[in-house]
Amino acid sequence: DSSLKNTKSYLIDGKFFSEIISPSSIKSRVHQIGEDISREFKSEKPVIIGVLNGAFIFMSDLIRNIDIEFEVDFIKISSYKNDLKSSGTINLEKNINIDVTNKHVIIVEDIVDTGLSLKYLYGEISKLSPSSIRFATLLYKNNKNNVHRNKIHLDWIGFNVEDYFVIGYGLDYKQHYRGLNGIYAAKERWGNWKRI
Ligand code: 5GP
Repeated sequence: DSSLKNTKSYLIDGKFFSEIISPSSIKSRVHQIGEDISREFKSEKPVIIGVLNGAFIFMSDLIRNIDIEFEVDFIKISSYKNDLKSSGTINLEKNINIDVTNKHVIIVEDIVDTGLSLKYLYGEISKLSPSSIRFATLLYKNNKNNVHRNKIHLDWIGFNVEDYFVIGYGLDYKQHYRGLNGIYAAKERWGNWKRI
């Protein structure tokens, strides 16, 4: 069968990627985070900033679970160079357009790995004089070599994941597979699998 969805493992470029977080777990966790944000910001109108490209699916599901008024914008940075490893430097590809002066900001990330992106984003958004900066990330990678991430507080973490390369739900492998509904990690296979 040629369909891409609903398989527990994929063989991609000679590596197995297996489901570690199901679509239904993602759905309920995103709902919880949305409720949390709604409660905390009920008398504010926060600006919610999605970090492109990886966070676009998390962002779109999250904002539909937030039951208060807010503004939306996107920032685009690049750090990963189409590979499984980080290049170490970060470029600002697109800044936000909304004026966030004296507003509460929530930055929405797909995954925190080394924390370099987090630190960079904190620096860039701080320059714009918001009242506060919060961070929501879908995934938090258990990377022992992490130098930066513990210096910035993460307000909402969807799931902690082991130090594997992950794809799906917005996260890519060489710009592919962002549309998978679950999160898949490059580890041993289980269950039925497909070569793609
Ligand atoms: P950090 O700056 O924390 O090392 O990495 C953050 C960015 O690197 C994420 O926003 C994401 O774009 C990318 N990244 C880190 N780990 C992974 C991963 O396991 N899979 C994918 N697809 N991207 C990752």
